[in-house]
Amino acid sequence: MALKGHKVVVVGDGAVGSAYAFAMVQQELAEELVIIDVFKDKTEGDALDLEDATAFTAPKKIYSGDYADAHDAELVVITAGAPQKPGETRLQLVDKNLKIMKSIIEPLMASGFNGIIVVAANPVDIMTYAAQKFSGLPKTRVFGSGTSLDTSRLRVALGKQFKVDPRSVDAYILGEHGDSEFANYDEAVIGGRPLKAFASDAKLTDADLEKILYQTAHKAYEIINRKGATYYGIATSLVRISRAILRDEHAVLPVGAYLDGAYGLDDIYIGTPAVIDAQGVAKVIEIPLSPTENERMQASAKTLKEITNDAFA
Ligand code: NAD
Repeated sequence: MALKGHKVVVVGDGAVGSAYAFAMVQQELAEELVIIDVFKDKTEGDALDLEDATAFTAPKKIYSGDYADAHDAELVVITAGAPQKPGETRLQLVDKNLKIMKSIIEPLMASGFNGIIVVAANPVDIMTYAAQKFSGLPKTRVFGSGTSLDTSRLRVALGKQFKVDPRSVDAYILGEHGDSEFANYDEAVIGGRPLKAFASDAKLTDADLEKILYQTAHKAYEIINRKGATYYGIATSLVRISRAILRDEHAVLPVGAYLDGAYGLDDIYIGTPAVIDAQGVAKVIEIPLSPTENERMQASAKTLKEITNDAFA
């Protein structure tokens, strides 16, 4: 029986899942947090460890669970998967992680779960598509972290460049969470003023902005090469998305949303801003892209569609 309050399940208690669980406890977002992984000792150890934190945060029930515990959960966050190895692209992970996704969704749905699924496992756009297909849940209630982390990386880089709080930078990374992603520099603003005007003041050319995009898109490799995995950034992105759901915020966040016509695309999960509330994706926000950016969106979608078609052929 769920305690009065929010119940969240995290599947995958590795670097990302455990950082997410820790951040959820710190931000006091869920009264009941269930941790699931094939590595049972790790989930039991983490539950005991996190329980100690509740002497300093609001009281909570945190435990190592099973899929049956998900039956009355509002939200399941999936971070289970094989991690990206140095030099390995996210797309090479497809086959391995599709099998893992199936082994998670089947018992999850058998529990009677009828909430929202947020996927972070890579390649996230494909894994999100798979989670929706395997679960049969409405497309608005299954979505991915998409370009959430990438957008935060871009905002951090631009915030440093223009000496403003990254939260004041209204710029997005769109497209695949991966090598074909791009920034909406043509529409991006800081305080209502075009980002390109700030760039011009700072004598930055379009090539300089592309370099910032390149560094943003490759930051994961920089981190993985140094410490083997990235997790604090993505865990915080996932907590931000979770808060928008659990508090019914109607927050505009970059996520991997299902497109049904926006950007001229359909039957695809891809990075775009969307309104997130207690129902999941309440609305996809279609940015009116410049012609060059639109070409990049189409190219990114083509990359994803090819992989999805191969995987589900
Ligand atoms: P990790 O290896 O530390 O953790 C993965 C966990 O999944 C392990 O604990 C493993 O036991 C568990 N697992 C494997 N198969 C399982 C199954 N069938 N059922 C339940 N649990 C299972 O990896 P990590 O660094 O935490 O990364 C996890 C995933 O998140 C990877 O796919 C990684 O690429 C992805 N990731 C995504 C983003 C993003 O922006 N979307 C960022 C970082 C990492």
